[in-house]
Amino acid sequence: MKTLKTVTEVRAYRKAKKGTIGFVPTMGCLHEGHLSLIKAARKENDLVVISIFVNPKQFGPKEDFRKYPRDLKRDERLAKKAGVDIIFYPSVKEVYPESYRTHVEVNDITERLCGRQRPGHFRGVTTVVAKLFNIVRPDRAYFGQKDAQQAIVIKQMARDLNMDIEIKVMPTVREADGLAMSSRNAYLSKRERKDAPVLYESLILARDLIEAGDFDTKKIKGHMKRLIDSTGSTYIDYISFSRLEDLKEVKKAGENTLIALAVRMGKTRLIDNIIIGGRV
Ligand code: AMP
Repeated sequence: MKTLKTVTEVRAYRKAKKGTIGFVPTMGCLHEGHLSLIKAARKENDLVVISIFVNPKQFGPKEDFRKYPRDLKRDERLAKKAGVDIIFYPSVKEVYPESYRTHVEVNDITERLCGRQRPGHFRGVTTVVAKLFNIVRPDRAYFGQKDAQQAIVIKQMARDLNMDIEIKVMPTVREADGLAMSSRNAYLSKRERKDAPVLYESLILARDLIEAGDFDTKKIKGHMKRLIDSTGSTYIDYISFSRLEDLKEVKKAGENTLIALAVRMGKTRLIDNIIIGGRV
């Protein structure tokens, strides 16, 4: 396994190698969620490239860009063990030189759910992923359902811009108590960590209600809200029931309904989701 820091090196590697490339873009601080994407890429491709890049363009001015956890040595160890061939680990200057002026923007679906509270976030994501796709030129790229809206936005971008890359979306990997794995879980205090599984518990509650024949999303949201609020250490950013294909809110839950939520615990913002009878 090699860690490459420049676009020139990655291009040279790409030119020299034959075979299919599976690509996993990450912001590092690797956990089992990332490793599941790497595993899928390993299975389906000749070569596996991952990127580790904390992308300043997808963080708002008051967000955690500076304190986002970084640990390259640990990531290299885990990536090597998982069978990664190349880590692309560029500097911010390598990705965005001073003269940088181009952005990629997907409309409409990026203004919903997380887009409301994080203006410019998805523009940052699509810009960096489009660049990474052009640098690595993978055959397949792997994303997690954990960030369902992100995966939907990337799929839209790839389709709209005729990118010849298969976008694969893999299931959310969870801790034993149901909390979705995330690099940001490291920010949680002991008390917050204890309460954090309530996000997934509220999603399961919603699924149980729907399975019992209750489809009224307003009513279900009320039940979810009460459960989450009962922990005392949470602030709900949003609970959303939307159509998977265009993220438009629905009054009645059913097939292909994405149930997604964002909850703040202290300074940490956690997200999670499930899909009723469908997949991204
Ligand atoms: P990040 O490093 O947080 O930007 O995540 C990189 C990729 O890993 C994204 O496609 C995420 O959706 C995916 N990912 C993050 N957490 C999980 C998880 N718990 N299960 C599955 N995929 C995940």
